[in-house]
Amino acid sequence: MTVRTRFAPSPTGYLHIGGVRTALFNWLFTRHHGGQFLLRIDDTDQQRNVDAALAPILHGFEWLGIDWDEGPGKGGPHGPYYQSQRLSHYQAAADRLVASGHAYHDYARPEEIATEREAAEREKRPFLYSRRWMAESANDRVRFENEGRSAVVRLKMPREGTLVIDDQIRGQVEFEWAREQDHVIQRADGTCLYHLASVVDDHDFEITHVIRAEEHLSNTPRQIFILESLGYPRPVYAHLPYVAEPGSKTKLSKRKLDKYLKNRDFAQIYEHGRAIATALGLAPAADTFNPVIVDFYEQVGYLPDAIVNYLVLLGWSLDERTEFFTRQQMIESFSLGRVNKAPASFDPKKLWSFQDHYMQQLPIDQKLDMMLPYLERAGVVSTPASDDVRERLRQVIQAAGDRLKVAGDILDFADFFVPDEQLRYDEAAFEKQLRDPESAARLARFRDRLSTAAAFDPAALEQLLQAFVADEQIGVGKIIHAIRVAVTGKAVGFGLFETLALLGRGTSVARIDRALARREAQAN
Ligand code: GLU
Repeated sequence: MTVRTRFAPSPTGYLHIGGVRTALFNWLFTRHHGGQFLLRIDDTDQQRNVDAALAPILHGFEWLGIDWDEGPGKGGPHGPYYQSQRLSHYQAAADRLVASGHAYHDYARPEEIATEREAAEREKRPFLYSRRWMAESANDRVRFENEGRSAVVRLKMPREGTLVIDDQIRGQVEFEWAREQDHVIQRADGTCLYHLASVVDDHDFEITHVIRAEEHLSNTPRQIFILESLGYPRPVYAHLPYVAEPGSKTKLSKRKLDKYLKNRDFAQIYEHGRAIATALGLAPAADTFNPVIVDFYEQVGYLPDAIVNYLVLLGWSLDERTEFFTRQQMIESFSLGRVNKAPASFDPKKLWSFQDHYMQQLPIDQKLDMMLPYLERAGVVSTPASDDVRERLRQVIQAAGDRLKVAGDILDFADFFVPDEQLRYDEAAFEKQLRDPESAARLARFRDRLSTAAAFDPAALEQLLQAFVADEQIGVGKIIHAIRVAVTGKAVGFGLFETLALLGRGTSVARIDRALARREAQAN
């Protein structure tokens, strides 16, 4: 048997972290067994433009390297893979269920059902529809229609006995049939409902394993009733616990950003991302610029491998220790048996540490290719970048080391690429380091030494500075911050001697001159 699984997104315009985790587990399970992973698009309730609302989802999967074998953009022998294009299959299934007596035309008016339901509530018994308006013959249908009634199609669910579902994660789950309603599968307007569609598609697509979020467990009895009534085999079920909020057991939601921002770690990755988006001149859209949505990480410059490695541990583990997995290792070691029953909380701090780990491992050429577009998009360097710019970027990346956690962090070092006259200053730092006339005079004297320095490499510059502070009889702290603010505009950065060497003599001196002139102008 070939394993076939599917992920079935509705085109909502965004890819939720919890959704990706479900898709990832499907994908790993399928790749482990050498099977096929499908994307099916659940778009029957779609009001908006499906293509536009689907694009970010497909793109998110592509970015993460989660590929599908059949579905949008891929085609496949069982297509179409959009539910909106498969309505005739659902209609045929509904007709078969009626013909075989597993479903019926029901002519009850909504208020009649409501009245029955209220009576059950009053009498504190579980509600079960009386089937009073069930049409059992063609004559019944004519009679009800002559009363001005219209029909929905309902399942004629069993009313006794139990159903046992053998779930790969939850174990044996029992349901009493008497607690199941005669669910509607087709509305009065002729449209078929989701559960029918889902069962028909899973069968038509030859899905062997239904691996999905646990909120669908309660839908499984009616789905099993449908599929067995149609004579289809049961797939294997695995219901995954949901991804919970940071530090809680409540399901993670994209709508609770304000609440999550009260969590320090969550707020930290959000604010860090926002600063990058702002430096890029993006006005982050409130509804998608959100760490609950995958696109956030792509915009800011996280590594797909880090995200995927983090996500695989969100509810699965190989053992107590192993944290880092290549894709191949994940595929080799993944099994449903080691998926947790309990919800896993989204932990921004852990995600950040995975990102840090993967970024530090990334070869310099790949960092360069990843970071250059950020400088280009921010308008800091022109496109295509010259060889000189690429070389400088390589040096900056090397010098910055683990200060670069995500690709967008390169924007912290934009000052190495801008023309001197466009250098921007951190005003508070400028004020603090250069306001004092004595500091400014000292910086001017240091500038003179720089301009005539025999060599301009980090070691020579360190010696030069040591000699300077000895002559001035000051500690290094009295001068290095002023130099840094003058040449980079900022109070923080990597080693000062690397910074000066990278900028070169001309730029370093010109920037100190500019800072001193600016100070002069402000003082007057
Ligand atoms: N479109 C459904 C969802 O997003 C899929 C349900 C299923 O996997 O059966 O929840």
